[in-house]
Amino acid sequence: MKPNPESEVVKIENLEKRYQGTDGFALKGLNLAIRRQEIFGLLGPNGSGKTTTLSIICGIRKPDKGTVQLFGQDIKTGINAIKALMGYVPQEIALYPKLTLQENLKYFASLHGLSGNKLKERIEFCLKVARLENHAKKRIDSFSGGMKRRSNLVVGIIHNPSLLLLDEPTVGVDPQSKNAIFEALNALRENGMTMIYTTHYMEEVETLCDSIGIMDNGKMIIQGHASDLIRQTPDCTNIGEVFLALTGKQLRDESDS
Ligand code: ADP
Ligand code: MG
Repeated sequence: MKPNPESEVVKIENLEKRYQGTDGFALKGLNLAIRRQEIFGLLGPNGSGKTTTLSIICGIRKPDKGTVQLFGQDIKTGINAIKALMGYVPQEIALYPKLTLQENLKYFASLHGLSGNKLKERIEFCLKVARLENHAKKRIDSFSGGMKRRSNLVVGIIHNPSLLLLDEPTVGVDPQSKNAIFEALNALRENGMTMIYTTHYMEEVETLCDSIGIMDNGKMIIQGHASDLIRQTPDCTNIGEVFLALTGKQLRDESDS
């Protein structure tokens, strides 16, 4: 399947999701539209529905109601073709700790059917993006936190996806690794990739993202460019203040998801 350049890469309408055995809605009428080559910053307090949204977009979970169109195609009818165009960098490090980075990359590449020269090329590219060319033959369990995060990122792009979903990809990394990740994401965007980027770090979205959405209680409460959101919200001079003004100051410790 070829992405349709005319359509929005992600278009979500009225999405609803309730997990079995729970009373409340995880998603309650979520709307979202993301254009090609945009880095979309998805913010929200713990439990607001960010991970649920990403897991539905990438086909891990099914919604109860609403529609999700990716590259102009409804995921109900075309998820298998769409999956090849999508990469997912999960919130937890999802690598085999006793395998080397190169072995991890090879394994995940094989799931996408990559082999031969193409495989070699992609592994070289990913090692360069992660700035781990000299560590390819070392085991993941010998890596620092930042090296693991950078490895987790490039495993998600081994098959050169058009849409990349990033769930808190900079948790616990040092400023140098964070900077390397930002430079990598900017370069990938230059090459045409579209991204959804969830984080709790407000300053990250202000510098990295073209557009920002703030979720709370399973809904998108505001969406737009950082400068517009700041202008629209009284007495706010940055996205952190906008976030607290719109989602409140009540603690959300009950969910750490
Ligand atoms: P976020 O990523 O923004 O922290 P989540 O999407 O993980 O939010 O969670 C949204 C809501 O759904 C929360 O109330 C959470 O407790 C609930 N939830 C998430 N995953 C599950 C699950 N597997 N089973 C039951 N409830 C869940
Ligand atoms: Mg989450």
